[in-house]
Amino acid sequence: MRTAEGQCRWHAAPIGQVFELLDTGPEGLSSGEARIRLERHGLNRLPQPRRRGPLARFLAQFSNLLIQVLLAAAVITGLLGHWADTLVIGGVVLLNAVIGFVQEGKAENALQAIRNMLSPQAAAFRDGHVTTLPAEELVPGDVVQLQAGDKVPADLRLFRAKGLSIQESVLTGESVPVAKGSLAVTADAPLGDRSALAYSGTLVTSGQGFGVVAATGAETEIGRISGMLAEVDSLTTPLLRQMEVFARWLTGVVLAVAALLFGFGMLVRDFDAAEAFMTVVGIAVAAIPEGLPAILTVTLAIGVQGMARRNAIIRRLPAVETLGSVSVICSDKTGTLTRNEMTARAVMTPAETFAVAGTGYDPHGDFEREGEAVEPGAQPFLMEVLRAGVLCNDAGVRQDDGGNWQVGGDPMEGALLVLGRKAGIDQDDLKGRLPRTDEIPFESEHRFMATLHHDHEGNATAFLKGAPEQVLEMCQWQGSREEGAPLDREYWRQGIEELARGGMRVLAIAAKPLPKHAQELTFGAAEEGLTLLGLVGLQDPPREEAVEAVAECQAAGIRVKMITGDHASTARAIAGQLAVHNSGDVLTGADLERLSDAELFERVADTDVYARTTPENKLRLVETLQRHGLTVAMTGDGVNDAPALKRADIGIAMGRKGTEAAKEAAEMVLADDNFASISRAVRAGRTVYDNLKKAIAFLLPVNGGESLSIVGALLIGLTLPITPLQILWVNMVSSVALAMALAFEPAEPGVMKRPPRPAKEPLLSGFLLWRVVFVSTLFFTAILGIFAWSVEHGSTLEEARTYSVNTLVLLEVLYLFSIRYLHAPALSRSGIRITRAAGISVLVVVLLQLIFTYAPFMEAFFETRPIDFLHGAEILGIGVLFFGLLEVEKRVRRRTGWGIR
Ligand code: ATP
Repeated sequence: MRTAEGQCRWHAAPIGQVFELLDTGPEGLSSGEARIRLERHGLNRLPQPRRRGPLARFLAQFSNLLIQVLLAAAVITGLLGHWADTLVIGGVVLLNAVIGFVQEGKAENALQAIRNMLSPQAAAFRDGHVTTLPAEELVPGDVVQLQAGDKVPADLRLFRAKGLSIQESVLTGESVPVAKGSLAVTADAPLGDRSALAYSGTLVTSGQGFGVVAATGAETEIGRISGMLAEVDSLTTPLLRQMEVFARWLTGVVLAVAALLFGFGMLVRDFDAAEAFMTVVGIAVAAIPEGLPAILTVTLAIGVQGMARRNAIIRRLPAVETLGSVSVICSDKTGTLTRNEMTARAVMTPAETFAVAGTGYDPHGDFEREGEAVEPGAQPFLMEVLRAGVLCNDAGVRQDDGGNWQVGGDPMEGALLVLGRKAGIDQDDLKGRLPRTDEIPFESEHRFMATLHHDHEGNATAFLKGAPEQVLEMCQWQGSREEGAPLDREYWRQGIEELARGGMRVLAIAAKPLPKHAQELTFGAAEEGLTLLGLVGLQDPPREEAVEAVAECQAAGIRVKMITGDHASTARAIAGQLAVHNSGDVLTGADLERLSDAELFERVADTDVYARTTPENKLRLVETLQRHGLTVAMTGDGVNDAPALKRADIGIAMGRKGTEAAKEAAEMVLADDNFASISRAVRAGRTVYDNLKKAIAFLLPVNGGESLSIVGALLIGLTLPITPLQILWVNMVSSVALAMALAFEPAEPGVMKRPPRPAKEPLLSGFLLWRVVFVSTLFFTAILGIFAWSVEHGSTLEEARTYSVNTLVLLEVLYLFSIRYLHAPALSRSGIRITRAAGISVLVVVLLQLIFTYAPFMEAFFETRPIDFLHGAEILGIGVLFFGLLEVEKRVRRRTGWGIR
């Protein structure tokens, strides 16, 4: 079916011809045939966007201004004949590039692996059954089912479509969805008008449809233009960008200060140009935190990987940081806070209410009326409700190999099938007698679903189930299909309220006879003159872990709001079981529509339960909460949730129950749909942010202290207490190794006991600035102190410098211990239990430092001297004093509550 130009013309061919050409039919392929075709056509995968090659990634390491300054220094020291310096600076730059290259490579791979966790699924017919399979395995000839929210998995020629609309903006740029049908169009119709085709990568916005796969992978329309789509997420977040700006700014300042000091050295201290320049190089090297960019990237990547292991898959990296500042979580109820394992517990007919026993999906359990078991078959009204519930249903139940009953499809519909089975109704048998001819699928906008059935005499009946208030409005009669009595609204209202108050989800079930010739079910026919058969009350208990997670979030200063499509009373009851709401107030979608913006602004702060909401309500809620200055996380699963998910600071889509449309719009996807995973992700987000902050709070003062001691020496007129070469050694070897360990730090105790970080908190907060100044001063005092003291007491210049370097490194190690906990005391039981990463880095640093100090070849290169016992003890003494001061500062901060974030 290709023209001379290779263009597919599936849209112009009648469906019979399409099936013939693809050697298939409406019932799809057998698995054997699919396997053979898969060999021939390959996986249904788009060509991967080209990733940067290794050379480009390596060279990118040098695009950093900090590194370029160092390179310039290396060249100039070379010109001045200071070869040792050139070599070490060159080595440092190279080492930095290699570390950056390797770690970023790992980070990119980790992200790629996480992205692969999100590979889409497709519902295809194999061996005559609808099977969910990875979209990658689709082959031409497969028959695929489409539903609202799906991402079309391959190019499909549609042969059945019911209210099907598809948004094709990835292909056409047009964001208004287009209606699709099954009829062929003219061969020259442009892409956007080929209504019988559904294109891979586009999104189904409403309706249902069936199509046969015409092209897969690179053969699809999108595959052909995928070169245009080759976008790779960059490894960056707002914090990292802020850091980049900061680094540039810092480099400017360092260069300016260096220039001033160059002048000062030459004019005031009478240095010659070369000597002055070497001092200035020392300062530049000391002040620039070379390793910082690589460390931040690694911290982020480790955080994202950890979250993925705990079922929170990050789709956009900045979300990791935002998670740490979340102050409200708006969560769906069903499946996220509750288990979404439904059991029908009560059935209400026009005359009476029956209680239903049994557990889970096991189809055994008695029907009781006022405590007495009854034979359901003898209750015609009851049987009518149950039969309608089984017919107006898309789910299936079956027993697995272990004898457990499993539901395929919507758990609530599964519960209705189980309910039917408890009364001896077999789904297949009933469907055989009353085959379905048409349907109106469930959508959360209209909150009902209806099906049309014909018996063998050709009599037509519509069955409908849905949210009870809605259905009540559509009904005129009650009773059975044959003998209806006028509807007693009050009776049913009370019934709904009673069941809902018990925390049950309530469904109303209705029916309507239609004329024999009716082959299509329209909204008009379904929406009026119905007979209400009865109500079913379904129980869906809260997840135990969700109860704990809600409490944890509340302790962390995060408000949890439940936003559900369910009935207000059900929502209130479940919220009570989860301890969600404080005020007890429930706002419904209708209330929300009535309230003005100003009124809603007032109410939203302390109303935590929202019922019978629509996706538009969700969007408005997000916006209103954001006007309160809150950072909002919002969950969603449906196609229409996309705007609210996009608008929220963190959109969270459900991995299992969620549509592809919701996942595309979300920043994060929950692999297990579980609320507890959100609170774990927030915890992880706070930890990552803490660790980023710790890496910064570690490196900046170390560099600050080093540069201060050189600048100080120069100003006072002392010789340099540490040579530029020695500083490079410290920066590259110990600083980077130690700071890298911070990326692996677990959450601090109490991380979920403090309030969320304000979203607009600047990176260099007052706290961080204070830390840089305070610790830099301590470093400076210690380094210069031991240097001046030992020179005074007879040590040679080389010896005094060795003491200074070793003091610096010891203080760094101790500072690492102290900063592992920004707030909690370091000398606690958990505080001294360091991570493996920290243990290894400390060990490596100590070993290298011993080599640095005692190995003869190091002595030649770095001009070091061995340290005797007395001076060793002195250095240790300084360390103890330093550590003590750090802990005292922490205690004062804790007392005053300053900087606790
Ligand atoms: P949440 O938003 O917390 O996930 P929800 O699942 O109740 O709640 P919706 O899926 O929008 O939200 O459902 C809203 C209402 O529509 C339900 O309370 C129920 O009364 C009705 N309903 C849900 N699914 C079906 C269905 N398959 N057939 C008929 N009615 C349904």
